Amino acid sequence: MCIFCQIVEGKIPNKTVLEDENFLCFHDINPTRKVHVLIIPKEHYKSFQETPSNIMCDLTAFAQKCAKELNIDESGYRLITNIGDDGGQEVHHLHFHMIGGEPVGRLVR
Ligand code: AMP
Repeated sequence: MCIFCQIVEGKIPNKTVLEDENFLCFHDINPTRKVHVLIIPKEHYKSFQETPSNIMCDLTAFAQKCAKELNIDESGYRLITNIGDDGGQEVHHLHFHMIGGEPVGRLVR
């Protein structure tokens, strides 16, 4: 079972920010910014590429609530999902990194 599925099942502890029936937001174990959380669907999808669009639709509303909960909805943040080998994905369960709490810098110049 993948590591994030084990987190969903409570077999591995996590620092939960927000949870509902379908999604979980928890702090990244190795934060790269003042705020660095991961947002995942509880159901296992390997990456964004395999994820049905209706899941992404619901994930949007959940991510917006997470940003409010973390008090970064007005200051801003970046949402990133890594996809596959070239995308640098290490955990093969769809997740979005939500980073912020400070300026995160430009992604593309
Ligand atoms: P990615 O490279 O996009 O697959 O990112 C995987 C992320 O998962 C990394 O930022 C890791 O720090 C994070 N991570 C791995 N294991 C855990 C864990 N048990 N709890 C929280 N975050 C984790």
